[in-house]
Amino acid sequence: MLADELRFYFPSLRTDEPLARHTTWGIGGPADYYLELKNQNELIQLILWALAHGLPLTPLGQGSNVLVGDKGIRGVTFRLRGEFERWRFDGDVVHAGAGVLLPTLSRAAAERGLTGVEPFCGIPGTVGGALQTNAGTPEGDIGSRVRSATVVDSKGGVRVLQPGDMSFSYRRSSLAGVTVISVDLQLRAGPKNDILAAVDRQLKRRAQRQPLGTRNCGSVFKNPPGDHAARLIEAAGLKGLRVGGAQVSLKHANFIENVDRATAANVRDLMDTVRRTVRDRFGVGLELEVWTVGE
Ligand SMILES: Cc1cc2nc3c(=O)[nH]c(=O)nc-3n(C[C@H](O)[C@H](O)[C@H](O)COP(=O)(O)OP(=O)(O)OC[C@H]3O[C@@H](n4cnc5c(N)ncnc54)[C@H](O)[C@@H]3O)c2cc1C
Repeated sequence: MLADELRFYFPSLRTDEPLARHTTWGIGGPADYYLELKNQNELIQLILWALAHGLPLTPLGQGSNVLVGDKGIRGVTFRLRGEFERWRFDGDVVHAGAGVLLPTLSRAAAERGLTGVEPFCGIPGTVGGALQTNAGTPEGDIGSRVRSATVVDSKGGVRVLQPGDMSFSYRRSSLAGVTVISVDLQLRAGPKNDILAAVDRQLKRRAQRQPLGTRNCGSVFKNPPGDHAARLIEAAGLKGLRVGGAQVSLKHANFIENVDRATAANVRDLMDTVRRTVRDRFGVGLELEVWTVGE
């Protein structure tokens, strides 16, 4: 059996792992196989094993930007832990593993008197997920801070990418198909107290505007050019609209909350209604910011 073979290499293997446990929405069916990897060797071993057996691989970070389908994800879903959760500063550059959480990294940089990542202090994802999705705020996105990124390709080859090898645009990167394992971010020295104050300001602003403490996935739709998805959704009268256990947030119209055991199908239906209504009312097509994965 494949599971026995995989368990031989990775004793911590979990089968039929409910991915709802691993997403901020608390939604998602089972992963056939679920692993938490501790270092680069384990990752390469997994990639070669999956390649030999023709199984798909899906990296998952904090699960804060994904809608995992109710039937889950086939093949192996994995998360980068252990050595991937470390970071170190080298002058004004921070070398961060893909598993490091952005709020942790932003706070550590601020404490060191380094500016550049404090705009990301309220983004509850990992460095790897952030690079793949080019996470950011109006103050800038992570792609613009990257000096280099180390990735592993689908054949297990390790490559160090320079800025010229990657491209980033609004919530998009050219990194599809690779696993990000670490990144070097260029920061700048600055007054520590000002940077720490900026962190606090960001967090306060988020607490005022976003339904923190609920099960959500951040902004569901990208902002269309020159406008805000939240403004359009609210103007269309959709705040509070509910399908099953999924509801358009009453606090921030571009958030969908899992208020009562929502399924991925509930969220999909709600997203479809929101898109259709906004298109019919304002002629604007909303594009998804969250990634849909699995079946
Ligand atoms: C309350 C809240 C507020 C948010 N605010 C913001 C915001 O201001 N700005 C913003 O941009 N986003 C925001 N988000 C969305 C989300 O936090 C970010 O997109 C985050 O960077 C996603 O990281 P993650 O680790 O959760 O990725 P996941 O959701 O786990 O994964 C996202 C995608 O990246 C892939 N992936 C994950 N890890 C890797 C890796 N190591 N290598 C390659 N691919 C990988 C996954 O397969 C998936 O396709 C918010 C979310 C929440 C819940």
